Amino acid sequence: MNTTLTIALSKGRIFKETLPLLAHAGIVPVDDPDTSRKLILDTNHPEIKLVIIRASDVPTYVEYGAADVGVAGKDVLMEHGGDGLYEPLDLKIACCRLMLAGPASGKNGEARMRIATKYVASTRRYFAAQGKQVEIIKLYGSMELAPLVGLADRIVDVVDTGNTLRANGLEPLEHIADISSRLIVNKASMKMKHAAVKTLIERIGEAVAAKELMQRKK
Ligand code: AMP
Repeated sequence: MNTTLTIALSKGRIFKETLPLLAHAGIVPVDDPDTSRKLILDTNHPEIKLVIIRASDVPTYVEYGAADVGVAGKDVLMEHGGDGLYEPLDLKIACCRLMLAGPASGKNGEARMRIATKYVASTRRYFAAQGKQVEIIKLYGSMELAPLVGLADRIVDVVDTGNTLRANGLEPLEHIADISSRLIVNKASMKMKHAAVKTLIERIGEAVAAKELMQRKK
């Protein structure tokens, strides 16, 4: 690969779970984002760089071409809105569900429910599709607290094991969407750097398929 490629990733779970997929494509970062303060990480290929940014910024970097490729959760992509980039591959990592949740003994049939979430667009779309009017309160984290202190009746959040909900006396009520991380590609990069991007998609696709096969055999 001689074309320069910038890949946008967020720290934590997505970074950790993307590393083996990148390794299958022959890409290994030289620096560790957990110990390095660098925001641009070199890899074993001088022409391939990783940029480490907030998960919710990944689609923006890719849409504007500041990164050619990125890995973003479907939850983040659903909020970002989707025409500005390609989403060629489901990486099947960081899997969870976007759920409506609330107190186990929650009120029902309120005239207008108050819902706390950072997923404002997805929540609005979900209730609009049901013809329900809800009041949405935008939060940036710790959504589980909102029903406990009377800020909201319900929350919309991503749920994995459900432990966080349970620990706060909440339970999952309605399944809104299945979430996993996706490979996303800048539209111009897909054309201008086609060979490099296509190779990357193919190699990562192979790694996803191989991992699935291993898991099925277990
Ligand atoms: P859990 O207690 O396992 O249901 O995890 C729930 C908490 O972990 C939520 O409050 C989320 O903020 C976070 N979380 C779990 N899975 C994911 C994921 N795949 N992507 C982003 N956040 C997640």
